[in-house]
Amino acid sequence: MSIDFSLSPELEEIRSRVRSFVTEVILPTERRIEEENLRDTDRKEYVRALAALRKQAQGDGMWLPHMPPQWGGMGLGHVELAMVQAEAAKSYYGPWVLNCQAPDEGNMHTLLHFGTDDQKARYLEPLCHGTAASCFAMTEPEVAGSDPTLIGTSAYPDGDEWVVNGHKWFISNAHRADFAILVCRTEDDPELPQAANSAFIVDLPSDGWTEVRQIGTMHGSTGHSEILIEDLRLHGDQMLGGRGEGHLLGQYRLGPARLAHCMRWIAQAETALDMMVDRSLNRFAHGSLLAEKQGIQWMIADSAMELYQSKLMVLHAAYRIDRGVDFKSEVSMAKHFVANALGRIIDRSIQVHGALGYSTDTPLAGMYQHARWARFADGPDEVHQMRIAQRTIAAYQDHGSTRSATGDLPL
Ligand SMILES: Cc1cc2nc3c(=O)[nH]c(=O)nc-3n(C[C@H](O)[C@H](O)[C@H](O)COP(=O)(O)OP(=O)(O)OC[C@H]3O[C@@H](n4cnc5c(N)ncnc54)[C@H](O)[C@@H]3O)c2cc1C
Repeated sequence: MSIDFSLSPELEEIRSRVRSFVTEVILPTERRIEEENLRDTDRKEYVRALAALRKQAQGDGMWLPHMPPQWGGMGLGHVELAMVQAEAAKSYYGPWVLNCQAPDEGNMHTLLHFGTDDQKARYLEPLCHGTAASCFAMTEPEVAGSDPTLIGTSAYPDGDEWVVNGHKWFISNAHRADFAILVCRTEDDPELPQAANSAFIVDLPSDGWTEVRQIGTMHGSTGHSEILIEDLRLHGDQMLGGRGEGHLLGQYRLGPARLAHCMRWIAQAETALDMMVDRSLNRFAHGSLLAEKQGIQWMIADSAMELYQSKLMVLHAAYRIDRGVDFKSEVSMAKHFVANALGRIIDRSIQVHGALGYSTDTPLAGMYQHARWARFADGPDEVHQMRIAQRTIAAYQDHGSTRSATGDLPL
């Protein structure tokens, strides 16, 4: 048995290269973009600055950490990917610069696994080159997104084509996507409710696909769109995966994609904890530094313990994915735990910063707003808890012990 948390020299080299690139190149550009408000005042310069970062990342071999080398990627496993994602996400633009951002990252995995050769050439290749963007369209306003068996958007066959009608919302990246992976109902009477849906690739723009609006959120309008689908015609060869495999494809996509979110959230939580400690070492009140007060030390200690647990859970879930063993419970537990720890750690950091934490002079306010969606997107807390409990009960019923449901660790 070997449990070894040290990194190979090659991986350590990759990690420190990504860390330097983020600290020395991406973060200064990010600060300039914010200080000069480039996004609103000089769109051309904004795009130029970001494109230059991508070019440098690609040239320096920090491109597509999650993809195999034959697709231009770094060929990392999920454990290795956790190191790179957690470094990249120290910057808001980091994952995008390395071309491993949601939802493209999950869509690349999906196309790699389910796409035909032709689909890979048309859709995966430009995604990997960074010359295309994509979105994943599953959630609908009318039915609970946490239960995909309720999906109402439907497709019926008409000769060589499928005709799709329905309504989607919160489709991230749809505003700028070149194509969508669309999940809709194709089977009226499936053997299993999970086998009612199929996935299609939709070229954008397409007649019958209308972006109604970008939805305003508690963090402003952030590129999540409402889409109306009216008599959208898709050729049969636009189906991704087999008929009735839409749910399977969603599950396959969401496991690693959920964990990739966790890897990025760890970076955010670490930033919040670093800021909490830094502030506590520099703020003086009632005769001592905040860092010397027990009430503040408890917040720091709780956050440190939660971040430690988060890292271990993510590494172990990633290890299980790499080993090809069932990872559903471990990813569910990691997703639930890290999403909640993230919110708590940022909240404590805001508390220690006082009014400054509530202001927009630090990134904490924005991080707090962003963190809120983590508890229900890609599976709400309660659904993960329901599944974890079901598997824990089943483990006890099957084996007389819950051991296999708690990570199946040798403890
Ligand atoms: C920022 C953001 C980006 C997103 N991007 C995408 C995207 O790109 N593509 C896409 O398709 N979707 C996307 N979504 C949608 C997201 O995946 C859904 O919000 C999520 O699946 C939950 O669905 P829902 O919002 O319909 O909530 P519902 O399913 O209506 O659930 C609402 C609440 O009900 C409770 N609940 C549900 N089931 C149970 C249960 N079994 N037991 C107890 N309580 C329960 C939970 O508290 C849950 O939060 C995004 C959402 C956000 C906020």
